[in-house]
Amino acid sequence: MSTVLAPALLPTYARAPVTIVSGEGCRVWDDAGRSYLDFGAGIAVVSLGHCHPAPLAAAQSQLELLWHASNLYSTEPAAALAVRLSERFGGAQAFFCNSGTEAVEAAVKYARKATGKPGIVALEGSFHGRTAAALAATGQPAKRAPFEPLLPGVAFARANDIASLHAVAGPDTGLILLEPVLGEGGILPVDAAFVRAAAELAAELGALLCLDEVQTGVGRTGAFFAFERLGVRPQLVALAKGLANGLPIGCLLVAEEAAGAFAPGDHGSTFGGNPVVCAAACAVVDAVDDGLLANVQAQSARLRAGLPGARGAGLLLGLDVDRPAAEVVDACREAGLLVLTAGERVLRLAPPLTVTADEVDEALAVLAEALV
Ligand code: PLP
Repeated sequence: MSTVLAPALLPTYARAPVTIVSGEGCRVWDDAGRSYLDFGAGIAVVSLGHCHPAPLAAAQSQLELLWHASNLYSTEPAAALAVRLSERFGGAQAFFCNSGTEAVEAAVKYARKATGKPGIVALEGSFHGRTAAALAATGQPAKRAPFEPLLPGVAFARANDIASLHAVAGPDTGLILLEPVLGEGGILPVDAAFVRAAAELAAELGALLCLDEVQTGVGRTGAFFAFERLGVRPQLVALAKGLANGLPIGCLLVAEEAAGAFAPGDHGSTFGGNPVVCAAACAVVDAVDDGLLANVQAQSARLRAGLPGARGAGLLLGLDVDRPAAEVVDACREAGLLVLTAGERVLRLAPPLTVTADEVDEALAVLAEALV
């Protein structure tokens, strides 16, 4: 039996009764030596699989060289990561922080400074994080309610409803904030026409369009950025989860055509751009090549073939279930498979992008049993 180690932690998570001690590839092991196939990858974080040799080697050699220098100086890994992300984006500047919510906070501040306008339009059902501005822009009233009043001026449109976008946006709108696939909100893909309408509306209003790619970015949907498949070029992109394969990182990318709003002192982070984390992230970005993206598509198709009704993009898939999704998660875990929920009755699958066909088949067999 695995032990539960949480007596002195604030109870902010509903933890499963498992203590995980090691991982390799798509598998993790608990403190009783039991192995699990990890189809959550943390929560869509361990994009290359646990202890992948490339980011491991990069982080280890950086640990021998320099752990921290502060942002009063340049470091080679942060500069190299910014160049890599700019190349992938097609011309952008990066701000590094430590989490997804911080990347969204940076986007909110950037848009405010760049446009001078306080209004934010986000989507009903969205999730952007748990710090004050990101929570204010999260379209899930139950998550916001205990912490009101939050940042004012946020209006929520319905995903894939262009009329509702036009109804809530106005001359005060400085930021339109969208997830390409609503993740925590149930794995609901946002369609290309809606995102294009949001981009046009942002341009008309003098607002910035930010895509929150904290969960969808860095290859998860089968393209480096999910927006590549939607036919838009946003001014802002928030990244985090998969970028450093599990080391903490967040990033706001600002398209070069929207650059120039932040000056020294406008924003910052003591740990942002940490050299060890950025060295690992460079190795991750290098690994997200055409071969890996093809694997994402192939394993996505294999999973979908075995799970009729699954929706999403690439290796971020959701499936409606006929009972609380947490019950299915528990049943799968007892059978050696880790999966996630995305809302009350949606099961979420987000395995490492390196998952193999055999591992997909193994997961499908467990799911078939758990879903009867
Ligand atoms: N944005 C999206 C789309 C997310 O899925 C998440 C986390 O699940 C966040 C922001 C917040 O990221 P973090 O938990 O790293 O602060």
